[in-house]
Amino acid sequence: MNVDRETDFGNRFREALKSGLIRAWFQPVFRAMTGRITVAEALARWFTPEGEMLSPADFIPALERDGLIFDLDMEILRQACVLYQEFQQRGTPLRGVSVNLSRLDFKQENLFETVCATLDRYAVPHEAIKLEITEGMMLEDTETFEKIFQLFSDAGFTIWLDDFGSGYSSLNVLQNYSFDVIKFDMLFLRKLSVRGREMLASLTSMAKTLGIHTLTEGVETKEQRDFLLSIGCEALQGFLYSKPLSAEKLTELVDQNPGILESPEDAKYWNAIGRLNFVNPNPLKDFAERRRDSAGTGTYVSSYDGSIALVECGRDHFEYIYATEGYRERLRDLGFATVGGLEHALSSQRSHQYLIFHKLVMDALRTGTVHTVEYAYKDVYFRLSALSVARKEGRAMIVMRLNTFDSEREVQTAQELLNSSSALLTTYDLVVLFYPERKAAKRVFTANSMAEYDQEESFEISLRKFCTEQVDPVDQERYLQFMNFSTMEERVGESPKHFIQSLFRMRLGQGTTGWYSARLTQVPSRPEKVFMLTVQNVQANLQKWMNLIVEEYPDML
Ligand code: C2E
Ligand code: MG
Ligand code: MG
Repeated sequence: MNVDRETDFGNRFREALKSGLIRAWFQPVFRAMTGRITVAEALARWFTPEGEMLSPADFIPALERDGLIFDLDMEILRQACVLYQEFQQRGTPLRGVSVNLSRLDFKQENLFETVCATLDRYAVPHEAIKLEITEGMMLEDTETFEKIFQLFSDAGFTIWLDDFGSGYSSLNVLQNYSFDVIKFDMLFLRKLSVRGREMLASLTSMAKTLGIHTLTEGVETKEQRDFLLSIGCEALQGFLYSKPLSAEKLTELVDQNPGILESPEDAKYWNAIGRLNFVNPNPLKDFAERRRDSAGTGTYVSSYDGSIALVECGRDHFEYIYATEGYRERLRDLGFATVGGLEHALSSQRSHQYLIFHKLVMDALRTGTVHTVEYAYKDVYFRLSALSVARKEGRAMIVMRLNTFDSEREVQTAQELLNSSSALLTTYDLVVLFYPERKAAKRVFTANSMAEYDQEESFEISLRKFCTEQVDPVDQERYLQFMNFSTMEERVGESPKHFIQSLFRMRLGQGTTGWYSARLTQVPSRPEKVFMLTVQNVQANLQKWMNLIVEEYPDML
């Protein structure tokens, strides 16, 4: 049927309205990162008495021509309110429903009043209804439009910009109105050409700069979805996820997938995370600075394969929620085939990765600023930065940026790191590496002229010789126990800080006997087990106190 050609089109429409043949169908919108439903969009469907379903393209132009579109839109709004109310009452509350308004609706003097009255009738809060409008409307009668926009805004409605980039495309509309969400239509970028990708990446970045949330509709393929995730688009809608559904089918979908509806708490959490601009040379810095200065500006270069990841921290676990391809690639540089491999290493509280990661995350959480560590793992130097971007009960989202060093400049940085670590060594009196599996030792540093014990023919001999010559007789037995290889790993592993420490009286080099603090730490990330012994003289003014304490409490050591 071509309704447009019917002479009594208006009557047929009114008839269809009355007999319930004009129905709102609902297409859910999904949070890109979680796959949960955030809202549903109401889309008009007209069923003929013969059961044929007509799409908006078949009847909207005629309704606009005959001045009937307002009636359609208010009926779809009413059905959206009914759906919202029903979901509320059955205990599966929806966060909102979006409805499409025609530009002609803005010529209706009673638009605002009618919308409010409809919501009141079904006890729907204004925040729950998202008004989708297109750019065309704003350019026709700017003054009237501005007034009505303000009226809706002030009354707590959120206004979405539909089909951005499809028609007149004026950037002015973004400058002049504060939209809550911009909807991009994938259909205009169907082939996902390089230029199309660049455009969408830049537009998403721009939206974030302006504080507007991003949604892409018409998502049909996994390739499109992966791309949209990589540029940080927050919400997705399209046949890949779900077609528009009748209210009954939507209800079924929700019932069959418990937990699929986003909670208000999650919405707040994810909306905060959604502000992160993936398409930015330095997303963490950008986010942190923008938090301070909401009018922040910056230059944006397309680099949406930047190396970032979202990591959620619970009370005692880390979970990678998302990692860009760039991040995964750098993880492979570090020898983790998958994000799961790292997660596994992180799940062991004894692993060195856990310790580094844990401290970094805790610092980021505590301060709310960007924290960075530089470290070497399997001979690859890397820099890991973290920023906390959102929190909710018992959980926080951390954005991680990972760089591995390979270019020449970075080799220099690595060299500097090495140099400074040798400076660090000189703060000790003695540093020795032990290889329990080979029963070998290697002296790395000493500030004292001392015999080269590590040249002895067996490790036991070296140890005993060192003990006899350097350790005060009263502490020799304790020292041998401290250095016992067969229990070393266990003792170090069990200690909460991953090192064991004790105080000994020693006479290093030519010096006099004094108190020394000895510490054994496991050296991370080597194929072979390695322990490092560091020995450091106890501060001069504490020496006499140590003697007094040991005299008083000989069992203390
Ligand atoms: P829209 O608001 O941009 O809605 C998106 C359209 O894309 C819908 O078509 C939807 O069914 C379709 N779509 C969603 N996902 C995909 C996908 O993955 N692939 C493809 N190829 N299409 C997808 P629909 O329902 O035919 O609506 C077309 C347009 O008609 C809407 O575009 C909207 O501008 C207008 N419209 C729909 N309902 C109403 C209404 O109640 N009032 C007014 N004024 N306009 C309406
Ligand atoms: Mg729409
Ligand atoms: Mg659209």
